[in-house]
Amino acid sequence: MQKNIQMLDLPSEYQALKPEIDSAIARCLQDQHWILGPEVKALEEACAHYLGTKNSLGVSSGTSALVISLRALAIAKKGKDFFDSEDKIITTPFTFTATGGAILQSGATPLFVDIDPTTFNLDPSLVEQALQTVPSVVGIVAVHLYGQSCEMDKLLTLSRKHNIFCVEDTAQAFGGAWQGKKLGTLGEAGAFSFFPSKNLGGFGDGGLIATGDAELAELARMLRQHGGKEKTNADYLGDNARLDTFQAAILLVKLKVVDEWNRKRQKIAERYTHAFREMPGLIPPQAQKNDSVFHQYTLRVMDGRRDALQAYLKEQGIHSVVYYPVPLHRMRLFQRMGTCFGKLECSEQMSTEVLSLPIEPLLSEEDTLRIVKEVQNFLN
Ligand SMILES: *Cc1c(COP(=O)(O)O)cnc(C)c1O
Repeated sequence: MQKNIQMLDLPSEYQALKPEIDSAIARCLQDQHWILGPEVKALEEACAHYLGTKNSLGVSSGTSALVISLRALAIAKKGKDFFDSEDKIITTPFTFTATGGAILQSGATPLFVDIDPTTFNLDPSLVEQALQTVPSVVGIVAVHLYGQSCEMDKLLTLSRKHNIFCVEDTAQAFGGAWQGKKLGTLGEAGAFSFFPSKNLGGFGDGGLIATGDAELAELARMLRQHGGKEKTNADYLGDNARLDTFQAAILLVKLKVVDEWNRKRQKIAERYTHAFREMPGLIPPQAQKNDSVFHQYTLRVMDGRRDALQAYLKEQGIHSVVYYPVPLHRMRLFQRMGTCFGKLECSEQMSTEVLSLPIEPLLSEEDTLRIVKEVQNFLN
């Protein structure tokens, strides 16, 4: 009986870094600086340096990073604690729930615009059409899905032209870049998640906001901690959304290997794509070498055979996941509180075709080949 292959192998990742992580945790226990302790500050500085941005602040999750970034923009642009529901923010329906949820939490209404099937990300030409026809759009939330960059030059040109903001949902793309600049530093703000399964993952929830704008950074710092420069004197309706000291200590260790592990992901992706390129019935991800950090390796499975392939792999002990089976505009929440630009047919089609394979950075060559072989067995 062969062993099961999971999407990720977090126990092995821990074993690979155990001595350093254990001593980082032990130091926290010694010091007892739990709330915004020195590790949080050190991680913020290390991330700002790594990303090449002026300001970075740790928050309690990727969702908080998005909500706080958007609310800081509402304060900076409108002088209000929240956007109004008439304010629309363009985003993709082909993303995790939290992207749209954060827009709603900031007071605005999501305007879903369809994706380009080669990148799985917002189609800039449709964003342009939406901006020409829909009034009261205040910004764009660009999601770098599966670690693959959006076409940022086009989205930024549009946002400048229409005088709206662009926030990057970089939850799936830590370490990725667009034309030499790190993702999350191209728009007004970048929101990162340290959820355990992300490319830079902690041992629980965590997130980070990156911004080159000192005013936004200051506002975000206030919103992270009860809405004032001091906790005991609030200017805005804040939250308790601080990054935990333990998480920061662990992430400081993992930050040192994030590039190496992203390269391992790219290497696995290269092996997969090499094997799947010529297979009828499959479309491997179109990302060129290195323009994705492969948070997920996602195939399109044609001819309605996606679910059958997933079931077959499961029988062979190989886990795979559909990200995402329900586009946001099909969820009851967003049917009540979101708006759509056009029919969003591409997102709907992708939700029936996509299947993500294991892409654990420490996946062995042998296991990678076993996955390839089983996919081929199914298709033949
Ligand atoms: C994971 C994720 C989030 C939310 O991050 P959390 O840390 O889980 O709150 C937001 N957007 C996308 C695209 C994600 O993948």
